[in-house]
Amino acid sequence: MDREPIIIAGAGPVGVVTALALAQRGIPVKVFDAAERVNDAPRASTLHPATLEMLSALGLLEDVIDQGLVAPTFQFWDRPTKRLVAEFDHGILKDDTTCPFVVQCEQHKLAELCIGRLKAFRHSEVNFSAPVVSIAEWSDGVDVTVGSSAGNHVVHGRYLIGADGGRSTVRKALDIDFEGYTFPERFLVLTTPFDFAQEHGVAFRVYFSDPDEWSALFKVAGKDGRAAWRAVFPTLPGQSDEEVLNEAATEARLQKFFPKSGRYEIFHRNIYSVHQRVAASFQKGRVFLAGDSAHVNNPIGGLGLNCGIHDAVQLAGLLSSVLLGERPESDLAQYDAIRRPINIEYVQQQTIANKKRLEEKDPATREANFDTLRKTSKDPASHRAFLMRTSLLESVRKQSAV
Ligand SMILES: Cc1cc2nc3c(=O)[nH]c(=O)nc-3n(C[C@H](O)[C@H](O)[C@H](O)COP(=O)(O)OP(=O)(O)OC[C@H]3O[C@@H](n4cnc5c(N)ncnc54)[C@H](O)[C@@H]3O)c2cc1C
Repeated sequence: MDREPIIIAGAGPVGVVTALALAQRGIPVKVFDAAERVNDAPRASTLHPATLEMLSALGLLEDVIDQGLVAPTFQFWDRPTKRLVAEFDHGILKDDTTCPFVVQCEQHKLAELCIGRLKAFRHSEVNFSAPVVSIAEWSDGVDVTVGSSAGNHVVHGRYLIGADGGRSTVRKALDIDFEGYTFPERFLVLTTPFDFAQEHGVAFRVYFSDPDEWSALFKVAGKDGRAAWRAVFPTLPGQSDEEVLNEAATEARLQKFFPKSGRYEIFHRNIYSVHQRVAASFQKGRVFLAGDSAHVNNPIGGLGLNCGIHDAVQLAGLLSSVLLGERPESDLAQYDAIRRPINIEYVQQQTIANKKRLEEKDPATREANFDTLRKTSKDPASHRAFLMRTSLLESVRKQSAV
């Protein structure tokens, strides 16, 4: 076996899942991350059945369940009338998957778990405060320049994977377009310990349609045994951070959402830009893009990280098979050929439609949407088909068939 490592830029969840999948196959990996540590900002938490199957194959499922919350159901509500529109239950997928449920597990916990597992492999290393600053590609490998407090040094590898997030240095170095658009509004995430399930009977994942201000709620396990709820809202285009994040504004937003006596305790306030973009190519020569460096989307439906983990698993499978001599190098072209259209069909299309459904303003269209959701949830075959698509199982089965 070729002992030159695969270099991975980014120790976010996608980078370290890729590294673990490669290391478990005996492939040497070197991961470099620009930050000092894993980013624990409130971002993805929803892990869908197709992803859980993959994490199970990597031996991570039990730990993910231990550190997260099992959420078999999710709901759609009409926010203005506080009316439950439809509930979907992943239990209906019991004959389709070994994981007929979702796990709400914060993405930084998944990244930490992988980094912990990687320590068992002498042929793997994960380096923080080590930004990838430039790359040079040769016929037999890549030279990656990595920064550090002691200055830059060059690391040689067989291939490079850019798992360095939406602003990917690797993608920019390759001059690959990031095609798509950025929404004019930003999204606000407020994290509170207030128990919406106990007080209002909501599921652990809920989407609220509202012509004035849609919202979404997710329960996460939190830390030190203290569960938390993340409430997501759109901001108005042009609003400053201070206007959105000040204490009076965040309190008013939560009180308008679900009025209660006394103030809301808020652990965390976070505002971020939202995009729908896909890289023009997921591969150039010996360099591959995976996760947010290859595609970004709005978080309604919880698909971005899931799709990134699917990239990670497929890419690690292809690269390890090639390096172990099980497949020809030309098979690596399958990565872009399969993953890029799958992202467009399953992640971009669904998340754009999900946002449109929640923010719909026309009363007749809103009612028609509710009617469709209700009918879908009541008919077992439609209920199953809906969840096969939203949980990405359909995309994974399609990929396996290819
Ligand atoms: C509020 C919010 C909620 C979300 N909810 C969901 C959800 O429920 N479900 C879901 O599937 N997705 C969700 N997403 C999307 C999800 O967070 C991302 O898809 C996920 O973080 C992608 O992981 P990644 O490893 O590709 O990138 P990142 O997590 O962004 O990690 C990239 C890493 O690369 C490092 N890096 C950057 N530049 C360099 C460099 N030059 N050299 C080396 N390292 C570098 C960074 O420090 C970082 O550690 C959400 C996103 C947001 C913002």
